[in-house]
Amino acid sequence: MTEPLIYDISSPGRRGVRFPDADVPKAELPKDMLRANLPLPEVAEIDVVRHFTRLSQLNHSIDTGFYPLGSCTMKYNPKINEKTAALPGFLNLHPMQPIDSAQGALMLMYLLQEMLKEIGGFAGVTLQPAAGAHGELTGVLIICAYHGACDDKKRTKILIPDSAHGTNPATSAMSGFKVVEIPSDERGNVDLDALKAECDDTLAGLMLTNPNTLGLFDENVEAVIEMVHEAGGLVYGDGANMNALLGIARPGDLGIDILHYNLHKTFSTPHGGGGPGSGPVGVAEHLVDFLPGPVVDIVDPGYDEEPPLYGFVNPPKSIGRMKAFNGHFGMMVRAFTYILMHGGAGLRKVSEDAVLNANYLMALLKDTYELKYDRTCMHEFVLEGHWADAPDVHALDISKRLMDFGFHPPTNYFPLIVPEALMIEPTETESKDTLDAFVDAMLEIAKEARENPDVLHEAPHTTPFGRLDEVSAARNLVLCCRLPEQD
Ligand SMILES: *Cc1c(COP(=O)(O)O)cnc(C)c1O
Repeated sequence: MTEPLIYDISSPGRRGVRFPDADVPKAELPKDMLRANLPLPEVAEIDVVRHFTRLSQLNHSIDTGFYPLGSCTMKYNPKINEKTAALPGFLNLHPMQPIDSAQGALMLMYLLQEMLKEIGGFAGVTLQPAAGAHGELTGVLIICAYHGACDDKKRTKILIPDSAHGTNPATSAMSGFKVVEIPSDERGNVDLDALKAECDDTLAGLMLTNPNTLGLFDENVEAVIEMVHEAGGLVYGDGANMNALLGIARPGDLGIDILHYNLHKTFSTPHGGGGPGSGPVGVAEHLVDFLPGPVVDIVDPGYDEEPPLYGFVNPPKSIGRMKAFNGHFGMMVRAFTYILMHGGAGLRKVSEDAVLNANYLMALLKDTYELKYDRTCMHEFVLEGHWADAPDVHALDISKRLMDFGFHPPTNYFPLIVPEALMIEPTETESKDTLDAFVDAMLEIAKEARENPDVLHEAPHTTPFGRLDEVSAARNLVLCCRLPEQD
């Protein structure tokens, strides 16, 4: 099945817009500026609306269905975020306009920095990074600058637990560090003996995700951090899993030196269409001077009733700019709105409910699906999508079959330390009805795996496209619309 292009519904003479008759004299356009052949589709407004609305509905979305994609925190994005981001004073800002005409926006950025400092327990925050991975790069460059500043040029390695997201080792390698993998122990914690063996004077830092990508809180987190600090290293916290911790534990209080937040995960800004994301980074006191510049600050507190004046300042040992202009401002407005709408107690409830929902699902599924690390989870958990008595059925088949029930599949084959991983993160925004329906589907699929495995192998059956050749889809991406003449 192929989807019609907008050219396929083109019909000569159809128009979406009709201009009024000209009331000025006609002028000829210079000939060399005109293309002889510019095949534009000829369509009415209603054709365009229907074409693109239909295309938009071919994909699963958080607004149309449950989306338990582990590690990604696909929570509902409240519509009020869109309303505030579209306020004309925010929407029509230009990054080059004089800052005395953008004081409201700077105040919002300042307050968001303050809120993120409070939530994470940090002394400074930059809002520049464009996503979590970009925050990681920012953080690892700060680690680099810190050791450089201490004239410590032999600190060349970064330790990364084997449960980590692929962006962690990629970031460290990109920044010129040697990556050393640390295994997990049988409870899913960082293996302390393996860590100890690597804590020497070549250690630059550790990248730690806590709760980790198994959805487990590291039971020895304080010992882990202390060991790295004692060896002179810094601890980078991958904050992608902050949805489990809001108002409950602050990474800064645990001793983490640097951490990125994913506004598009924890703080309900959309992941839509591949971006834009936003990955602010918080740092402890001893690293504030290294933050990328500029950061927003109060440059004049103002007298009496006068409002303070906000401006940009450059931290004295700044690693430099990480992003053109000031980051993804629209995402900052959305996250700011989300935080204000919840307040401190509300944010804590977000995490409590996210953890409760995950444990509810885990409890109902763990007798049917193998659970490698069987202990109370945080906001997500990882099952095995494979059984000895259904040897031809794999995690991928289960995921594809879930689509027939109207659910987005869980994350597959990550983390790598669980075979046939199905990583499930329900988030706090789902009702018990939705969770129960998901459990019913998962149990039904487990039954089908024994009785009729072909229905899984051929799935999905009900989506606009059936099972894709994923290798070709990734290798031979077609990203542009072919014009009809070209073939
Ligand atoms: C999502 C994620 C990242 C990367 O964040 P992006 O915003 O997608 O760049 C890093 N680590 C973990 C654990 C994640 O889940």
